[in-house]
Amino acid sequence: MEVAIMGAGISGLTCAITLEKNGITPTIFEKRSSVGDRFVNAEGMFSILNRPARDWIPYISENYNINLKPIDDVDKLFIHSKNEIGTINGKIGYTNVRGRHENSYESQLEKQVKSKINFNSTYEYSELCKNFEHVVLATGDGDYASHLGNYNCNLTCTIKGATVQGNFVTSNPHVWFNYEILPKGYGWLIPFSEKEANLVIAYPDYPDNIRLDLNDIWEKFNNLACKSLDQNLKITDNFEVTRYMMGVCNKAKIDNTYFVGNCFGAISPGLGFGQYTSILTGVYSAFGICGLESYDKLAKPLFENYNHSLVFRRFMESLTDEQMDFQIRNLDNKIIDNLVDIACNRNSSVDLLKLSTPMMRLWNNYKELKN
Ligand SMILES: Cc1cc2nc3c(=O)[nH]c(=O)nc-3n(C[C@H](O)[C@H](O)[C@H](O)COP(=O)(O)OP(=O)(O)OC[C@H]3O[C@@H](n4cnc5c(N)ncnc54)[C@H](O)[C@@H]3O)c2cc1C
Repeated sequence: MEVAIMGAGISGLTCAITLEKNGITPTIFEKRSSVGDRFVNAEGMFSILNRPARDWIPYISENYNINLKPIDDVDKLFIHSKNEIGTINGKIGYTNVRGRHENSYESQLEKQVKSKINFNSTYEYSELCKNFEHVVLATGDGDYASHLGNYNCNLTCTIKGATVQGNFVTSNPHVWFNYEILPKGYGWLIPFSEKEANLVIAYPDYPDNIRLDLNDIWEKFNNLACKSLDQNLKITDNFEVTRYMMGVCNKAKIDNTYFVGNCFGAISPGLGFGQYTSILTGVYSAFGICGLESYDKLAKPLFENYNHSLVFRRFMESLTDEQMDFQIRNLDNKIIDNLVDIACNRNSSVDLLKLSTPMMRLWNNYKELKN
């Protein structure tokens, strides 16, 4: 069976590994000259957001034989609002490296792939369709799906990040919600090591935000992060991403084309996590191609998760800094830690995002009516 995979990122490579395990050798096309040839950043994967898996690294290893090594386990997440700092404690998830780094997830996946990767590819999707029985679109954005009329973009974001030097605890990432500085957006710090971390801001490109000066916002956020962490962070590298799309396909598969990773709509709009769904869509599309299970059926819960996450985003956006302070003030309590323990427990079937969606939806409707 002739299968083309367009894009050697995390979803494309995961698809390739799964196809190979089922006796199919795909042809992989990558437009860059090597896997992960882009800026280095740190990303997180939080168990609380990933259903059906609770503890996703052992989950994908045990179930799909995809093996990944994170930077560290996250056992404490610091959440900063305008005037408060709270923590969530427990087995929250993992952090990992991406991009041009020997331990990035894409580099780790490349080592597990046997098929040839054709680098510097200039092939268009239409050409691959003519020459292959199945085409897996894994290009890392919704562009192709949009052109095919199969993508609803809910928002785009502006992202700016930097590698910073300082003193960090690798199991303790930080996130900031401060709408005075980052309207309807957030910032985060994920350590690469005890001496180096990734500091990033992301905010939606809504009309009011487009008028803002990115460098000015960054300056203010950087000062805020230095103040919150009580240290001077030295910037050694930086990157920017404009119009980062958050949206989802109408269909996971059209004829013999499979939409995976961000082409599917892997990014959860709530907090921008997309790696887990990228890996799952990679695996599931391969199952579909091999005729083991229907890709449409497997992808159904992922669509639902996207929709819950969109409700979560609207909920977060509707809060004021004062309401955020109130939420964070109440985080440091044993009930929350116990809830996290229950939700993140490997044997738990509690889906906090799904459970809280009806309440958040009610709140969002009330806020809309009020405005
Ligand atoms: C700054 C930032 C921070 C993030 N943080 C998190 C986080 O903390 N947690 C999380 O879960 N997710 C996070 N995400 C989202 C996550 O990175 C993505 O959801 C995930 O990488 C998508 O995987 P993918 O396989 O779709 O795309 P990618 O892994 O990006 O791979 C796409 C590949 O396709 C190639 N390509 C593109 N066009 C073509 C073409 N025409 N022909 C051939 N090849 C092509 C690209 O070069 C690339 O190699 C973040 C994203 C960004 C930008």
